[in-house]
Amino acid sequence: ERDAQKRDRFKPALMRDGSRIEVVANIGEASEAAKAVDAGGEGVGLLRTEILFVNRESEPTEDEQAATYTQMARALNGLPIIIRTLDVGGDKEIPYLTMPQEDNPFLGERGIRFCLARPELFRSQLRAIYRASAHGCVRIMFPMVSQLSELLEAKKIAEEVRLEVGADPVEIGIMIEVPSAVAMASVFAQHVDFFSIGTNDLTQYTLAMDRLHPLLAKQADGLDPAVLRFIDQTVRAADAAGIWVGACGGIAGDPLGATLLTGLGLKELSMSIPTIPEIKALLRSQSLADNKRLAQKALEQSSAADVRALMGGAP
Ligand code: PEP
Ligand code: MG
Repeated sequence: ERDAQKRDRFKPALMRDGSRIEVVANIGEASEAAKAVDAGGEGVGLLRTEILFVNRESEPTEDEQAATYTQMARALNGLPIIIRTLDVGGDKEIPYLTMPQEDNPFLGERGIRFCLARPELFRSQLRAIYRASAHGCVRIMFPMVSQLSELLEAKKIAEEVRLEVGADPVEIGIMIEVPSAVAMASVFAQHVDFFSIGTNDLTQYTLAMDRLHPLLAKQADGLDPAVLRFIDQTVRAADAAGIWVGACGGIAGDPLGATLLTGLGLKELSMSIPTIPEIKALLRSQSLADNKRLAQKALEQSSAADVRALMGGAP
């Protein structure tokens, strides 16, 4: 079976009824772009740029970042790469960036808030991204957006930078990973080209359970119906506005998660490289209509355990 998955990895994830799901990779290092393609990835759905900032003494310069993003875009040979702007804070600490001392770092200056508070850092990254955009299909994504004002400010800075660099416009999207972004998805959708649901943080903030807490790990389940209902709500808002939605959290690369997420209407699943051939094979064996029926039932369950039991007969 693994051999068959490997052999077919470059075939698209065409479901039995003809629906096509884009299966793309989560990456963090330059060398992984080529690896993603080699595993059958149809692009990169999440570049965690903070990985370029760790294990160093100082932040990478604009030129260094431009070189890295360009190398990745080239390795993808025209396939899309979604470059997420720096997502630090919370559990993601970078010693030389002098993060604020906070009682609740997960509720503090993290993600887009951190960047908006450090415009020079943000601008230099955006300059690097726009420079790289000439070499492939580059998209920009902002993390942890929770209020419209953050998105509008980030977009304003990005547009200023784009004009400075003289680059063409690129698609801009946001992570949907906090409950306020779900509640306001219809508003956010008027201002972006796409959403990518970060199910790791969305689960954490929806259930108010630390994603790394050893005692809560089992309860903080991305298949919790509360999370699934939020995903459903997000897809409806996006559909109404005519923008596409993907997912890049852990459950996108999990067989049960991929089944439910496609059933809820997601068009793109971004996952760690090794899971790509398996999820592509799984989707080819399924029909979207079946997944939709299952997802509708999952939305009516009262716990993650019930959702998992419901899926028992499925893959
Ligand atoms: C997420 O929160 O689901 C996500 C994909 O982003 P990260 O894991 O990098 O926070
Ligand atoms: Mg996240």
